Amino acid sequence: MPRECGWCSSMDRPAWERRILAGTPVSVVAADTPYSVSAANRHLRQHLRPALSAEVLSPAADLHVSDFAEKLVSLVSSAHSVRRYAESTANPRLILQSIKTEADVLETIMRRLGIDSEEGAEDYVQARKLTSAVGALVRSGDHPEF
Ligand SMILES: [Zn+2]
Repeated sequence: MPRECGWCSSMDRPAWERRILAGTPVSVVAADTPYSVSAANRHLRQHLRPALSAEVLSPAADLHVSDFAEKLVSLVSSAHSVRRYAESTANPRLILQSIKTEADVLETIMRRLGIDSEEGAEDYVQARKLTSAVGALVRSGDHPEF
């Protein structure tokens, strides 16, 4: 039988998760719990992240993580909208900046969710490729008139 997750069985779970999602390092939050940093990371990986994914796929669900999932989705969506807008202005500097911002948002969210393997890394790789491709184009001065 798998070992029980201390975080999941604690009434303080929502508060701890909130702090981590707000940017407090896992080690700092873990120090305020009776559990180890490894236990915290295991919980984030095995329980929080799947719950967030489920929330994103099913916005009607009523879990305490829904606020965060909504915010994360809204952040990504805003960054994407800003990039689309920047592209429509044909201002290379603005476009570059918006691409970098979108990549940063994705990276921050992935890091916060402890996504360190190849899953989900595809978006990030795409964003990085876009950034460097546009960067090279703008630096070369060889871009078409928009
Ligand atoms: Zn757990």
